[in-house]
Amino acid sequence: MAIDDQLNQVQQRINHALMHYGHPSNQVALLAVSKTKPTAMVEAAYRAGQRDFGENYLQDALEKIEALPLEGIVWHFIGAIQSNKSRPLAEYFDWVHGVDRLKIARRLSEQRPADRAPLNLCIQVNSSGEPNKAGVSFAQLPELAQQIAALPNIRLRGLMTLPAPTADFEQQRAPFRALRKALEQLNHEGLTLDTLSMGMSADMEAAIAEGATIVRIGTDIFGARQ
Ligand SMILES: *Cc1c(COP(=O)(O)O)cnc(C)c1O
Repeated sequence: MAIDDQLNQVQQRINHALMHYGHPSNQVALLAVSKTKPTAMVEAAYRAGQRDFGENYLQDALEKIEALPLEGIVWHFIGAIQSNKSRPLAEYFDWVHGVDRLKIARRLSEQRPADRAPLNLCIQVNSSGEPNKAGVSFAQLPELAQQIAALPNIRLRGLMTLPAPTADFEQQRAPFRALRKALEQLNHEGLTLDTLSMGMSADMEAAIAEGATIVRIGTDIFGARQ
C-alpha cells in the first residue's frame, strides 16, 4: 500500500480511538518513525502532509535531515542516547524523547545553539520495571524532572515510555496509565508538562485510551523493518 494510504489509515485509527475514549479530537500528534527507512519514503510521507518524524540511529538520521531541508519538518530523536554524541542531537533535532540522566540533559542544554528554539525533551520512564531497560524508575522521576526542568535552552515537555510488549489490551494499558498518573503528579508539584509520548503500532489504542499526546508509529506507516 502507498504511504499516503497507510498514513490515512493510521490517522483514522487515532481519530476513532480518540472518539471512543472521549478525548478531544486534536489530542494526539502522529510521530512517523522512519528509522532505517530511505529518505525517499520520508519525503513521500511529507508530501502526504506528515510533518513529525522520529529517528533512532544518529548517522541515519543526520543523512536524512541534511537531505530534506523541508519547510515545517520536525525531527524527533527517539533512540538510545550516548553522552559523547549529544552535540548533534542538540544541533539538529527539535525533540529528544529518551532522556533518562541529568548528565545528558545538561549536555543538551549546554550544546543547544543560541539561535535555535529551546530543545524539547521527554524523560524516558522504565514503566514496566524491566531490568537493563533504558529509562528512569517512577521512584527517581520526580527529582530528575525538577532538575531537568530548571536547565536553560531546553524545555521539558513530558514523559516517554516503551513498555514490555504484551498482546493483552488491559496489560498494555497499565504502564500507560502509570505514566499518565506520574505526569499528573509532576504537574501537581508545579511543573507544566503537556506531553505523554507513548504508543507504537502494536499498542497505540491502549496508549490513546490512557491519554497519549504523541504516538510513535513506524511499521504501520512504512512497513516492517529488516
Ligand atoms: C521503532 C520505535 C517505534 C515504532 O515502532 P513500530 O512498532 O514500528 O510502530 C516507536 N518508538 C520507539 C522508541 C522505537 O524505537
